[in-house]
Amino acid sequence: MGLPRLILIAIIIGGGIWLWRRLNSRPLSSKHPAQTQTMVRCANCHVHLPQDRAVFKQPHWYCNSEHLQQGPKTRD
Ligand SMILES: [Zn+2]
Repeated sequence: MGLPRLILIAIIIGGGIWLWRRLNSRPLSSKHPAQTQTMVRCANCHVHLPQDRAVFKQPHWYCNSEHLQQGPKTRD
């Protein structure tokens, strides 16, 4: 009794923590980085934004419906 039993308990606790961490950690491969999104430029204010957040009206992209109504502007 004594030290061997203490080591055994430490191994059980350590193994439990390792298993818990392993089950709770999410695989990094399932994450899709945001950098892969296609960036478009607003024809009105010339700001760059992801394509899925932009509004499209032939032949230009806009950052919101307000700029879509104002139409394209040239930067000066
Ligand atoms: Zn805009």
